[in-house]
Amino acid sequence: MKNIRDFTLAELEEELVSIGEKKYRAKQIFAWLFRGVTSFSEMTDLSKELIAKLSENYYIENIVDSKSQKSKDGTVKFLFILRDGNAIESVMMKYKYGNTACVSNQVGCRMGCNFCASARIGFVRSLTSGEIISQILEIERQTGEKISNVVFMGIGEPLDNYDNVMRAIKIINDPKGFNIGARHISISTCGIVPKIRQLADEIELQCNLCISLHSSKDDVRSSMMPINKKYSIAEVIDACKYYIEKTNRRITFEYALVDGVNDSKEDALHLAKLLKGMLAHVNLIPINKIKDGIYEKSSTEKIMSFRDTLNDNGIVATIRRELGSDISAACGQLVRQQKQDV
Ligand code: SAH
Repeated sequence: MKNIRDFTLAELEEELVSIGEKKYRAKQIFAWLFRGVTSFSEMTDLSKELIAKLSENYYIENIVDSKSQKSKDGTVKFLFILRDGNAIESVMMKYKYGNTACVSNQVGCRMGCNFCASARIGFVRSLTSGEIISQILEIERQTGEKISNVVFMGIGEPLDNYDNVMRAIKIINDPKGFNIGARHISISTCGIVPKIRQLADEIELQCNLCISLHSSKDDVRSSMMPINKKYSIAEVIDACKYYIEKTNRRITFEYALVDGVNDSKEDALHLAKLLKGMLAHVNLIPINKIKDGIYEKSSTEKIMSFRDTLNDNGIVATIRRELGSDISAACGQLVRQQKQDV
């Protein structure tokens, strides 16, 4: 059995032809999937024979929300159970300009960043594109709200699940899919250099690229993020410059401020120097506390002065609003819950 939500429209057309059906049927089926149907029998413009054939060979992913939690700021966190029993979390945030879905792309994560709860739980497997988009469909179904932005900032490292993430992006962007503009889709990576270069070469869609930088100094970054021992800051910046040259898109650098670790004035000046002249923007995140975490959040004054130092030195910087921290739905707080907790 294949998950019918795993196909892009072009792939579904090929698939239908391969089972002896007319190509145009793919458009009909695809459109139904994005109207949120959960069974083939609801696809009323298909013949009974085709419905039977589809039901025998494919399934419609039906991820179950076992425990959604709503924050006082309107953020909703979902705990989804996949078909194989694994659990992931997704978040819906409400902004003035629309609703953002923060989706997971792996069960667990193998990057091991020491400030991120998702890393604590180990790595189980990558999600398929169908499992990624099912999170958005289920969020829309549960809340009755439309999603207008998607960020790959949930559990997992998107560039460690490159093909499925790219396929999901195509489906999210497809006018017959979610019809969400590429500029409303963001991928965040811890900095897998060859994949950033691959993305620059292959990207058909102009989605936003965010880099989790967190320090402009190799020793500090390596102490927070093991990936830095493999790809140094200089290599990441080089790959980013290549990406900008190829796509002419601005890159966002995410920087979680940790008290006494990366938040001094000198750190801000060092960062400004590193990014000088690049088509870049810095998004400052007050670090969120995780269970048994070793880091403390910088004070609000320090965060504001860090931003001001960057701005004064020609780097555009903003402070990310903290949403959902009361329900552990904020950056770095998502975990693959143990099944017995569910
Ligand atoms: N693996 C990807 C995407 C997931 S995390 C990545 O590394 O970018 C999304 C963002 O939240 C990243 O910038 C990540 O570094 C940040 N983050 C992780 N843990 C955090 C924490 N405890 N507090 C604040 N931000 C955190």
